[in-house]
Amino acid sequence: MSRILADYHMHCRFSPDSRSAPEEMCAAAVKAGLAEIALTDHFEFFPPGKFADKPYTIANMREQQRALDRCREKFAGKLVIRNGIEVGQPQCSPDAAAELMREVAFDYVIGSVHKMNGLDLGLTEYTDENIPALVKQNLGMLQVLAETGDFDCMGHLDIIKRYAANQGKQIDLMGWKDEVEPILRTLIRRGKGLEINTSGLRQSARETLPSVAVLQFYRELGGEVLTIGSDAHRPEDVGAGFDEALLVAKAAGFRQIAVYEKRQPRFYGV
Ligand SMILES: [Zn+2]
Ligand SMILES: [Zn+2]
Repeated sequence: MSRILADYHMHCRFSPDSRSAPEEMCAAAVKAGLAEIALTDHFEFFPPGKFADKPYTIANMREQQRALDRCREKFAGKLVIRNGIEVGQPQCSPDAAAELMREVAFDYVIGSVHKMNGLDLGLTEYTDENIPALVKQNLGMLQVLAETGDFDCMGHLDIIKRYAANQGKQIDLMGWKDEVEPILRTLIRRGKGLEINTSGLRQSARETLPSVAVLQFYRELGGEVLTIGSDAHRPEDVGAGFDEALLVAKAAGFRQIAVYEKRQPRFYGV
């Protein structure tokens, strides 16, 4: 396959935390020299009664897909646009997650954990005292997601690093190798991949999620499936940090990056 650069993690106005039009994200991708993108709007799952105020609906995702159909017409010949989604902690509501996957056809699904037991990781205060327990709990949820989730690649494996770094606390997931290893082995066994999320480069963590050391560990265990995503919520971040992400992928031993159509991976060389 010829050289492709694909941004496989971004959000537009179908996510509650983005106001960007899908057309703007597509135009930014063309401007950044990308050949392919996946719009991966949020769909969060909650234990009954928790966080019930956010509008995550099948109707919203259908509307996203209609908007992406219009984008495909507008950007035909310039940009390949895939229907994506980022599902958050689907294990909290497995029946609703299964219904979503039955009702809406996606090209690419990111499986993430943003919240645990009523705690929004982005709104949590991190201290030296609570970090070890929170990381362990987060890795426990990622393990369940890896074992049971219907997704293609696991999103931002060390998301706590991003949020804790923004509060001046450094976290290295390799300090939890015993918990990380079974997650990576489960992903490999189930044919699922990891993403390199470049949002950490734009924030205080100043490195990709996960770090090159974790990616190297994944590769050593036999991991082969890797995507790159900016996690952009606005046009100016589309494709951000990709030069560095490619260096990180190569340093970890990867020679190819995955893209997806109808949930099937294909690979391009880097
Ligand atoms: Zn996310
Ligand atoms: Zn995201």
